[in-house]
Amino acid sequence: MQVLPIYSGATTQEMPSLGKLIVLTGPSGVGKGTLLQKLLERHPELYYSVSATTRSPRPGEVDGINYYFVARNQFEKLVAQGEFLEWAEFAGNYYGTPRTAVLDKIKSGKLVILEIELEGARQIRRSYPGALSVFILPPTFSELENRIRGRGQDSDEAIARRLHRAQEEIQAAGEFDIQIVNDDFETALHQVEAVLFG
Ligand code: ADP
Ligand code: 5GP
Repeated sequence: MQVLPIYSGATTQEMPSLGKLIVLTGPSGVGKGTLLQKLLERHPELYYSVSATTRSPRPGEVDGINYYFVARNQFEKLVAQGEFLEWAEFAGNYYGTPRTAVLDKIKSGKLVILEIELEGARQIRRSYPGALSVFILPPTFSELENRIRGRGQDSDEAIARRLHRAQEEIQAAGEFDIQIVNDDFETALHQVEAVLFG
């Protein structure tokens, strides 16, 4: 397991104004990760913040690339040390954004993108009102279910939890600056690009 980077413990009040912070949210299975992967391929100037999680790696996921996979007690220690810009519990696991890596990248003028769930996005909006928040919606709820099942990487129990949570998340879409429906993938990708890069 890779060790988390060392954090300086800056507070959100110290969030630098240079650069931009983008928050990408939406229910599990809507296609956030797939959109993000394409955005990163096409826009090397984007910096993707790798989160920490207590979830087990899915097949093919790499520690330090997809997530920093940490034990629950280690995550709780990092929370107590103030090492996260935001964190939340989602479907039985913790997820959090490392504070210092994000602050440093913003300070250096990078466009930083977080792909996080609703509660974390709300925390970021409160602590950094200048962040641009984008909510990705599925064309229909049954299509969302098809995508989660089609991904074939979650247990039935995990899928049920994610779908239950998805209903609450979708109701919160209006809180976000921009809403984009990921129906046709290329169309949605271009819409996200238009929002990010004008
Ligand atoms: P998330 O990161 O939001 O949980 P993923 O990016 O893992 O979602 O996508 C879930 C599944 O849906 C993947 O199998 C992905 O290939 C598929 N998918 C993503 N966007 C579309 C789309 N526009 N149309 C059909 N399938 C899609
Ligand atoms: P998954 O287990 O499918 O990778 O992610 C589950 C959910 O956690 C997704 O909605 C994803 O956006 C969210 N998530 C990933 N990293 C973070 C994070 O650092 N903070 C928060 N709050 N949510 C995250």
